[in-house]
Amino acid sequence: MRCPDCNRQLDLKLCSKGVFRNLYFWGCTNFPNCHFILNTHVPENEYTDQIKMNLDIFHTLLREPTDEVVNGFKANMGLYLEHFITCRWGAHFNDLFDNIIQPYFDDVNLLKFILKSDIIRSESNIIVSDYGEKIFYELFRYLVKVEDKSIKEYLASTFPEFNKRFCT
Ligand SMILES: [Zn+2]
Repeated sequence: MRCPDCNRQLDLKLCSKGVFRNLYFWGCTNFPNCHFILNTHVPENEYTDQIKMNLDIFHTLLREPTDEVVNGFKANMGLYLEHFITCRWGAHFNDLFDNIIQPYFDDVNLLKFILKSDIIRSESNIIVSDYGEKIFYELFRYLVKVEDKSIKEYLASTFPEFNKRFCT
């Protein structure tokens, strides 16, 4: 994931002080020149560094989805979404969607961040919301299947024309 302010890479970090202490956040690698952060609200756990994008590891972890494993998925959810959206290999992106995104994605702020980012390419028949979130119908069709209610509601209210198409 890239910084929307300066386009450098974002890094997953653990906050060490203040109200967000022991919670993971995405911070800009250009810090202290750039102060962009994206909070995950996910508490510290020991699995996060292993999870990332390694498919073998995520299948192993899925056999026993403890709280730590689920938190690891949630902390790294931006990477899963990014790969899901850009991957051209159907078996791979469906695997990511079915096993991680559909059951565990629950962060509306992260969804807004992703939909405003360059991950959504302008060549793919996008529509743009009043607040600059971009989406295309195929992506909408997947994301409304996410189990979390706040994600469904956000999508329905932000992209009413797609929502109507999907539900009729
Ligand atoms: Zn930055």
